[in-house]
Amino acid sequence: MTSPAILLALTLAPPVQILKPAHHGPLLDKAAAIFTRRVEARCGPATSKPVTIDLRVQPSSASGAYTISTHGAALRVTGHDEAGVLYGLGKLFRTSSCSDGAFRPGSWRGSSAPAGTLRGVYLASHFGNFYEAAPISELETYVEDLALWGVNAIGFAFPNWQYDSYDDPAAQANLTRLRAMMAVARASGIRVGAMVAPNQVFRTAPPELRAKPYPDDWGRRGNLGTNLCPSLPAARQYILDAWARLLDEYKATGLDFVVYWPYDEGGCGCSQCWPWGSRGFYRISRDMTELARRRYPQLQTVLSTWMFDTPPAGEWRELSDNLEKDAPWISYIMADAHEDFPRYPLDQDVPGRLPLVNFPEISMWGMSPWGGYGANPLPARLQMLWDQVKTKVRGGLPYSEGIYEDLNKIIATQFYWDPNTTAAATLREYIASEFSPAVVTEVTQAIAILEANHARRGNGSFKSPPHDTAKARALMESANAKLSPQIQTAWRWRILYLRALIDDELAKSGGIPQRATLAEPFAELIRIYHAEHVHTNRVAPPAFR
Ligand SMILES: [Zn+2]
Repeated sequence: MTSPAILLALTLAPPVQILKPAHHGPLLDKAAAIFTRRVEARCGPATSKPVTIDLRVQPSSASGAYTISTHGAALRVTGHDEAGVLYGLGKLFRTSSCSDGAFRPGSWRGSSAPAGTLRGVYLASHFGNFYEAAPISELETYVEDLALWGVNAIGFAFPNWQYDSYDDPAAQANLTRLRAMMAVARASGIRVGAMVAPNQVFRTAPPELRAKPYPDDWGRRGNLGTNLCPSLPAARQYILDAWARLLDEYKATGLDFVVYWPYDEGGCGCSQCWPWGSRGFYRISRDMTELARRRYPQLQTVLSTWMFDTPPAGEWRELSDNLEKDAPWISYIMADAHEDFPRYPLDQDVPGRLPLVNFPEISMWGMSPWGGYGANPLPARLQMLWDQVKTKVRGGLPYSEGIYEDLNKIIATQFYWDPNTTAAATLREYIASEFSPAVVTEVTQAIAILEANHARRGNGSFKSPPHDTAKARALMESANAKLSPQIQTAWRWRILYLRALIDDELAKSGGIPQRATLAEPFAELIRIYHAEHVHTNRVAPPAFR
């Protein structure tokens, strides 16, 4: 007879049993823990015999590659490395389901290897947005979830222009937060990088070292007024000293890559620095790399070409010439733009024939406040943009202002894994795994309506008359009724459900938020984003005052 204690233990066992090799590293333990947490959150404790999953590491094709296979009663996830085991567990999770508390493995078996080596996101932490404001444990969970989708790099930026110096208490508080975020990312096998505008400095920098104005005829290059001219020896030394100190600030967490940013912010128009992208910027970024590799010899570098040649100044051409002559020091060239992708790297060889990565805008496009109306899924737009570059681009760092664009982030990063996948395929996998396989059709239809009604004016009203908002809401209501209680209350579901509700209410009220219907939905979004203390109105729902 089974004792009550044993019965209790059986009832509370996780729905999966993980077998690990005798010798393994911390990432394998982390992978098993992330997978088990997600399965338990979806299925609850096991009500029947747990499913056995056997984890193996066996070098195969590429870092991150994995195979899922069946061996007798057990499933086996074999990774090229421990990261591959993590990504394989992610695939297993997304292609499986739960019923009556039991984990039901899906039928997907086979192998997959990533095409892109830089599958990242840039998490902007400012304005009191989620990345700045959420408890670090919540951010840790979020980063682990990204790792399960194959994300292997996160960029962070230290906003020096806001501060007097590194010893400014506000600067130290920002660095403490950055280090905490970097530590949780690294624990999930994610590489961490610094996004830097090389000549942007503290607001207290000597005025005589400041940069000269540069052409910005199209008003796209941004200038907060704290840029130095690195062709002045004292300014160059100031920049390198500040950089050395920042590298030391990251000593505890380590640093895997740097992304150098030319404009918005940055730039100098003096005769030595101009054209900035191929002269002043190029030289100071190379000097900073030399300094950084003394501390971090394996450091990779991404040279961004943001706003190169807008207007034309020969920056792309001269960058190519530089890279033909110089010893290699750049790992990736990054390109993207506010609108159409720059033509140069599509029509010509990428400078230095280096891997090209992008910087897609997934957070702010066409809707303000960002995330203010809930989720902002843009699968059709992201597919359209990807189709323009997919034969050339092999990775990137989508710009993220918050978790409301989780779906866009996942769509973008899956293009890096497999350039030939589609946004529609990722959408189906996301809906099935985050919500339920039973609601894929309805939620896909609802998202198409939300995307068609996406564009807003500055005051938040619809740019063109909204269509089918009641239908989208009804589809989400119908799907909601089919979900388990734990999914109905999960934030990924709530932000999408609230978007359909909010759009429908706004359509009924001519785009003007009504307190009676929208105060609580907006308040719930604020709670999910931890946006109670935002510094601007850009990253929280419209407030009722
Ligand atoms: Zn200069």
